[in-house]
Amino acid sequence: MLRIGFIGWRGMVGSVLLSRMLEEKDFQDFEPIFFTTSNINGIGPDVGLDIPPLKDAFDIKLLSSMDIILTCQGGDYTKKVYPELRRHGWNGYWIDSASALRMNDDSIIVLDPVNRAVIDSGLSSGIKTYVGGNCTVSLMLMALSGLFASGHIEWISSMTYQAASGAGAKYMKELISQMAVLGDASRSLLDDPASTAIAIDEVVTKELRSNNFPAENFAVPLAGSLIAWIDSPMESGQTREEWKGSVETNKILQTMKPIPVDGVCVRVGAMRCHSQGLTIKLDMDMPLEEVSEVIEKGNQWVKLVPNDKESTLHSLTPAAVNSTLTIPVGRLRKMLMGPEYVAAFTVGDQLLWGAAEPIRRILNILIEQLS
Ligand code: NAP
Repeated sequence: MLRIGFIGWRGMVGSVLLSRMLEEKDFQDFEPIFFTTSNINGIGPDVGLDIPPLKDAFDIKLLSSMDIILTCQGGDYTKKVYPELRRHGWNGYWIDSASALRMNDDSIIVLDPVNRAVIDSGLSSGIKTYVGGNCTVSLMLMALSGLFASGHIEWISSMTYQAASGAGAKYMKELISQMAVLGDASRSLLDDPASTAIAIDEVVTKELRSNNFPAENFAVPLAGSLIAWIDSPMESGQTREEWKGSVETNKILQTMKPIPVDGVCVRVGAMRCHSQGLTIKLDMDMPLEEVSEVIEKGNQWVKLVPNDKESTLHSLTPAAVNSTLTIPVGRLRKMLMGPEYVAAFTVGDQLLWGAAEPIRRILNILIEQLS
């Protein structure tokens, strides 16, 4: 029976992964072994099986006995353990949610509804390392997989509205703490029907600029504001998040001629859904009905949202999409720049399709392959 080691299963991505695996009844026909970096011999998660106490996630000998290792522990863990394991001759499959190995020549970025052919060719050529993609990139590709497959995309500009969860659990909590502070400060004015919006704004602005405002993680307010910078600077003037748009898209698709993807990535006060406003430059004047049809047929999770107010308000928001696998694409229209320019807006849960789901699916692909 296959032995599969799980590391990082209690973190944010790991726990979403486990809950999806339980939902899909994935825990069968393999022996799961759960590891920890902080609680050796502790009790593992309830996956409906008898499982041994937690093992040491740095035990190279034990890790070497796994057929597959799946880690959602983070880049530092990967950088420490992965090279050591390979140096010791371990030749098993490594599945990872961290970015550390994403751009290695001997790794494949997985998003099987979009790049199953790339994965299959990697499997047959002996690639052993499979890494989840950047959340924003994966969500954009899920939304536009049909259009990418049509071969008519010349370039894309993606302006993002990214959720707090992309930064980690403590950032999500800080966002809500910030909202609570603003709510508490304006409570009496909100309760007074005679109070003005300007008076409330004065109170809110004072709080946002106060030195006591809770911003240990974000460094500045996100609630009632936004942050037009995600990750570290690149020499190009892009942030690393913006840089990933093009390099990861082209690696995932293994394009012969790179398709430029660029834009401004912005953190907004959403919890776990990233949204993106897209300008798509096609290489032809494709009728809008055809564009819609091609997008809709891309994969079973894409849902086309009619370009009207009612549908947009109800279906094309983080509030509607949170915790679901649906990838709505709406606001589709031709732009003033010319008949080859299409506007679109899409939303997706960045902990599901943006992180845990591609990892869950590659695990099943590998299990099927190895069984
Ligand atoms: P995380 O929530 O910080 O969890 C990572 C590890 O922290 C856990 O496995 C756990 O390890 C330890 N930990 C310490 N205190 C904890 C606590 N109170 N609750 C839960 N775990 C705790 O990390 P993550 O956000 O899931 O990200 C994991 C990796 O996936 C990172 O490389 C990240 O860049 C990548 N990723 C994240 C996202 C995202 O949306 N957050 C999206 C795509 C990829 P022990 O059990 O061993 O102590």
